[in-house]
Amino acid sequence: MKIVLIDEITKEFTMHDMFIETEEQRAILESVRKFVDDVVKPKSAELDAMDTPDKRYCGEIVKAANDLGLRTMTLSEKYGGLSADSHTTAMVVEELAVGDVGVSVVMAQTMKLATIMEKALNEDQAERALVPFTKDPEAVLAIGITEPDNASNYFLPYPTPFRTTAEKVDGGYVINGMKHFISNGNRASFYLLFVQTEKGKPMLEGTTCFLLERGREGFSIGRVHDKLGESLANNAELIFQDCFIPNENIVGEVGKGFQLLQKFFPSSNSFAAASCLGVGVALFEKAEQWAKIRVQGGRPLIEHDGIRAQLAEMRMLLDAARAYTHKACYLADNQDQGWDYTLGALPKAMASQAVWKIATWTMEIHGGHGYMKEFGVAKLLRDAAGWLHSDGVNRTLFLKAANIMYGLDLYNK
Ligand SMILES: Cc1cc2nc3c(=O)[nH]c(=O)nc-3n(C[C@H](O)[C@H](O)[C@H](O)COP(=O)(O)OP(=O)(O)OC[C@H]3O[C@@H](n4cnc5c(N)ncnc54)[C@H](O)[C@@H]3O)c2cc1C
Repeated sequence: MKIVLIDEITKEFTMHDMFIETEEQRAILESVRKFVDDVVKPKSAELDAMDTPDKRYCGEIVKAANDLGLRTMTLSEKYGGLSADSHTTAMVVEELAVGDVGVSVVMAQTMKLATIMEKALNEDQAERALVPFTKDPEAVLAIGITEPDNASNYFLPYPTPFRTTAEKVDGGYVINGMKHFISNGNRASFYLLFVQTEKGKPMLEGTTCFLLERGREGFSIGRVHDKLGESLANNAELIFQDCFIPNENIVGEVGKGFQLLQKFFPSSNSFAAASCLGVGVALFEKAEQWAKIRVQGGRPLIEHDGIRAQLAEMRMLLDAARAYTHKACYLADNQDQGWDYTLGALPKAMASQAVWKIATWTMEIHGGHGYMKEFGVAKLLRDAAGWLHSDGVNRTLFLKAANIMYGLDLYNK
């Protein structure tokens, strides 16, 4: 038996062809793919192997992504961007993650928050944050919500308060407390920070969002977390010790932080799903390549029925998770056509479960070679693991979706 693999099929498959609607999208994705091949892939393993989290950060790659226009592509023309919609952004994020998931996370957080900031900040805030952000080729953005005591609590949400508090004083608020696990936390120029301003109220009713600038007095970076994978992105603690933030930095209304999350973050979960998918594509490509070259039982693995069938199952999982992700992106951008809030929770859960399976199967297909670092499967497995928890633990997201479905969600009904 001779198996002929048609390269074009694989190419179209990873190129998400059926989701490309315009020539502009195609051109963007082709340049991203070239960027990933030329700039991201050659650096990924080397940076991942560095001995401290700080050194693993992909700052040079961010600068190069800026030259390509990716860093600001979700902003409008006013800020030099392309007004890229969720659908296009998800495809770009997936392509970046094929090269390295840390890079895709740094960029996805920044692209997502840039567009949210453009919508949510007032003119003065946008002038103070977005203008300098566009001018600095290395600037990235971050969002601080999670605290050591509050994680699934705010996803669901439970009627508890945040521990990071803001006390009203003349002209603004004084913030005390800490956030942790924050992507880009030690790297960002600007942050959206969610803190408890209303004492005695649950976080749903008592949280305010602030625009926070790097370097503000009383705000410092704590530990940079040493993670299992996704190493080219940094996560850090944000520490607040009597940090004064003026009233001019309140985003939206006092006590209405969760309304901002609801209004402006519908695609966030899909971008996380897109990052997972990129890892899945990288794993699939490795599994397929290994199955073609590794000979056991007198023929390449791919000529053994069980292995070949498993590749088809991997492809099915990726295709299905991608279709779900794009459905969510489309409806996030066209909410009048049937957006439902479960789509803000489930695509990442589906993609990460699919990709976790693909990661373990890819390792099995590689046999002992998969366990040896030099073959790169181990790194991808570590990268895939993060998505079971980040952007919400999957079980928590299922519970959130169930609460929405059965009218138990306090917020997204
Ligand atoms: C790589 C990475 C990047 C991140 N980036 C950011 C960021 O940029 N900004 C930010 O604010 N946060 C960020 N986070 C935080 C992330 O959103 C939280 O880690 C995540 O929500 C899980 O929180 P936790 O680890 O405290 O788990 P917990 O909430 O403590 O959950 C632990 C376990 O208990 C389960 N559980 C919790 N509540 C219930 C319940 N009611 N019923 C049944 N089971 C329950 C969960 O499903 C989970 O299995 C990041 C995390 C990671 C890992």
